Amino acid sequence: MSENKNVNLTCIGCPLGCSITVCMQDKEIISVTGNTCPRGEAYARKEVTAPTRIVTTTVRVSGAASPVVSCKTKSDIPKGMIFDVINALKEITVTAPIKIGDILIKDVAGTGVDIVATQNV
Ligand code: SF4
Repeated sequence: MSENKNVNLTCIGCPLGCSITVCMQDKEIISVTGNTCPRGEAYARKEVTAPTRIVTTTVRVSGAASPVVSCKTKSDIPKGMIFDVINALKEITVTAPIKIGDILIKDVAGTGVDIVATQNV
């Protein structure tokens, strides 16, 4: 029988940053402790099984006073695809005018997630 293993995480759900411990046996979650609210447990369960992140970054823009426009993924993407997304964004230049919420790229790096502007330029 395999031994239990503790995974220690810092919750990113809010500025409190609770320290959470997930007790695992192989790939099975035995317990989640240290979270102050249910969001922390949900975060911890996802983080040890299928971690995801929102990516916030910038892309080049032409025809604007600023050389770049800030943007983010519309929803979480798998953590392992962050560099694929960053690399895909290095290749493109969008054209002003751009409004907050405009889709700059559809299905970035095959993630199924769009990149949206977070700035008017
Ligand atoms: S567990 Fe809840 S209270 Fe603690 S950091 Fe996460 S979201 Fe905030």
